[in-house]
Amino acid sequence: MVDFAAIRAQFPILDQQIHGHPLVYLDSAATSQKPQCVIDAEADFYRTINAGVHRGAHELAARSTEAFEQARAKVARLVGANAEEGQEEVVVTGGATAGLNLLATAFGNASLGRGGEAAKRFALKPGDEIVVSKAEHHSVLLPFQELAARTGATLKWFDLTEDGRIRSDTADEVITERTKVVAITHVGNTTGAITDIAPIVRRAHEVGAVFILDACQSVPHLKVDFHVLDVDFAAWSAHKMYGPTGVGFLYGKRELLEALPPANFGGSMVELAWMDRPAQYMEPTARFEAGTQPVAQVVAAGVAAEWMMNIGMENLEAHEKTIAAELLKLGDIDGVRILGPRENVNRIGTVAFDVAGVHPHDVGQFIDAQGIAIRVGHHCAQPVHRHFGLYASNRASSGIYNNVEDAAALVEAVAKVRPFFAA
Ligand code: PMP
Repeated sequence: MVDFAAIRAQFPILDQQIHGHPLVYLDSAATSQKPQCVIDAEADFYRTINAGVHRGAHELAARSTEAFEQARAKVARLVGANAEEGQEEVVVTGGATAGLNLLATAFGNASLGRGGEAAKRFALKPGDEIVVSKAEHHSVLLPFQELAARTGATLKWFDLTEDGRIRSDTADEVITERTKVVAITHVGNTTGAITDIAPIVRRAHEVGAVFILDACQSVPHLKVDFHVLDVDFAAWSAHKMYGPTGVGFLYGKRELLEALPPANFGGSMVELAWMDRPAQYMEPTARFEAGTQPVAQVVAAGVAAEWMMNIGMENLEAHEKTIAAELLKLGDIDGVRILGPRENVNRIGTVAFDVAGVHPHDVGQFIDAQGIAIRVGHHCAQPVHRHFGLYASNRASSGIYNNVEDAAALVEAVAKVRPFFAA
């Protein structure tokens, strides 16, 4: 039995009053709170072994490098990736956005002939197609829209069902022999819907396309194994999985990372550099990690990954399902519409909703006055809002530290919104 009250007690930030009410934090899709062990890990690193990694022949640098690589291995274990030396499949990035841009830039470089013969599998030309979906966060949509514009490729997309699920059943029509890249979210950051990616991955591979998964909203909430899912690349952020801000990870199948040209250039990613000859770049993962790395944050992200594995992803998933069930009661309130699946099936505890006649900023303020934190706006996903005929919405999203009482407090508060504004 997992003691969820004890887990909640590990989050010092939750132990405070906001506007005279106990804080109810329901904005974990934006960023999660951090347990004490993660906060301590970052501080301990600075207190005891702070040094740059991968260079310097002194003891602290050796310890720092060891801690950095151990953290990479822990994160790899969380997502079923290889971590053995020389076979690493997890690249450190500045976050999901940075990882997705890294891929789009690298594919653009491959399209210019960089990276030689091996990189040709990533090259795009006019007439080729890149496929995304209408449910994408702008961090997926925009880098690949730009890549299409730079290479002359055409951007196509999956449509959504009425309740906002990606139409995986149309994979055979949307993905064609011309498709080279498919980039799809695992869980919608607005709808909370889990994408049935299997038919999309299968079809992408059938036509020889590369499949990229936006795993931002799945890794923190579900047991994921990128080898089992057979995705080629996946990007996510540490700050949504109980880790620090400023870092994220990019998974890539080892053979693809080995073929991928670099996207960022600078220190620590080059074997040989000359004035009059092209540089010789290092093997993955170093080739993609130019510059001084955020070592303290990566080490703390490793602690977060281990902490999640110790709780057990199945336990985490089951607990959040109980919160989702309570949040979905929002849909029973008069004038409240849920933007996403109403049933508690193949979804997570991220529930966006519209309150008829009341602007999300007014809803957010009303809710905040009662100490409850939710997100309002378009959540960096404008096309999915257009799909629902809206520009903005309210979004409640759960974390492991929430209890059913948190969700019930929100439902009670939202029920008062329309009477208050007399909408
Ligand atoms: N994709 C999804 C589905 C997200 O929810 C987010 C974060 N809002 C991102 C990408 C971008 O993550 P970050 O801002 O941490 O780079």
